[in-house]
Amino acid sequence: MFTVMEMVQPKTVEEAYEILTKRKNNQVIGGSAWLRMGSKRIGTAVELSQLGLDYIKDSGDYIEIGAMTTFRSLETSKLLEENFGSIIKDSVKDIIGVQFRNVVTIGGTIFSKFGFSDLIVALLALECEVKLVRNGKLALREFLNKEYEKDLLTKIYIKKNNVKASYKSLRNAQSDYALLNVSVSKFEDKVKIYVGARPQIATLAIKASEFLSNNELTDENIEKAAFMVSEELTFGTNMRATKEYRSLMSKVLVKRALMEVR
Ligand SMILES: Cc1cc2nc3c(=O)[nH]c(=O)nc-3n(C[C@H](O)[C@H](O)[C@H](O)COP(=O)(O)OP(=O)(O)OC[C@H]3O[C@@H](n4cnc5c(N)ncnc54)[C@H](O)[C@@H]3O)c2cc1C
Repeated sequence: MFTVMEMVQPKTVEEAYEILTKRKNNQVIGGSAWLRMGSKRIGTAVELSQLGLDYIKDSGDYIEIGAMTTFRSLETSKLLEENFGSIIKDSVKDIIGVQFRNVVTIGGTIFSKFGFSDLIVALLALECEVKLVRNGKLALREFLNKEYEKDLLTKIYIKKNNVKASYKSLRNAQSDYALLNVSVSKFEDKVKIYVGARPQIATLAIKASEFLSNNELTDENIEKAAFMVSEELTFGTNMRATKEYRSLMSKVLVKRALMEVR
C-alpha cells in the first residue's frame, strides 16, 4: 500500500498541475487501484475528483471523455455505443469485476501506458487524441511513444467518423491480464491493425495494415494479412505466454477482428 504525507483536492486543473509539479514526489491520484498495489511514498497526493473530469460528452465532431471517467461508465455508455459500436465496451467489460471497473479511471490507465492495457489498444483503433496540461493535445499513438514526463491528463477526444472497429483478446484465466490483445479499424479504404500485450505496448502492424488498405477484405487477403502481422511484429515471452505462442495467436485474433469489421 502507498503512503501519502498530505492530500489535496484542487478545484481547478491549473491548481492541480501547479501542486503536482511543485515537488518530485507529488503525484496524481486517479482511481488509485494501481497505486495501492505498490509501496510509493507520495509527498502531496493530488486527488482529482473535484475537477469535474468524470464525463462522456458529445462536442460536435468529437466525443470527449474526462480523465476521471471510470471503465464502468465507458462500458455502460449509450453515447459511445451509438458512435463506435461495442469496441470500447468489449475492451473493458471482462476486466476483474463491476466494483473494480467502477473505480479505475481512463486517466490512470492511459497515463500509465501499460503494455497489457485492453483499453489503450481499443482507443488506438479509434484514432484517439489525449489532452495534457503541459504537452497539450496529441495523438494517443504519439503520447505512447513519448518519454515519461510529469504531466496531468485531463481528457481524451475520439473523432466521430463512422469508423468500423473490433477488439479481441486472449487470457489464460478470466481475471488475468490479456496475453495478447488486438484491435482493427476500417475507415473508408484505410485499414489499421494494432496488437498489444505482446507483452510490450500496443503498436500498429504497418505492413499488414497497408496491404489491406490497398486490397479487398477477401478471405484470402485476411488470411495473408494475419500472417503478415505475426511476421512483422516482435513478440516477447513472460509468465503468461511464450513469444512463439503470442505470434501464433496473433494470427487467430487478427483474423477474427478483420472478419468482424468486414
Ligand atoms: C489487480 C489489477 C488488475 C488489472 N487488470 C487489468 C486488465 O486485465 N486489463 C487492463 O487493461 N487493465 C488492468 N488493470 C489496470 C487498470 O485497468 C487501470 O489501468 C489501473 O488501475 C490504473 O487506473 P487507476 O485509476 O487505478 O490509476 P491510479 O492507480 O490512480 O494511478 C495510476 C498512475 O497514473 C497516474 N495518474 C492517474 N490519473 C492521472 C491523470 N489524469 N493524469 C496523469 N497521471 C495520472 C498516477 O499518478 C499513477 O502514477 C488492472 C489493475 C489492477 C490493480
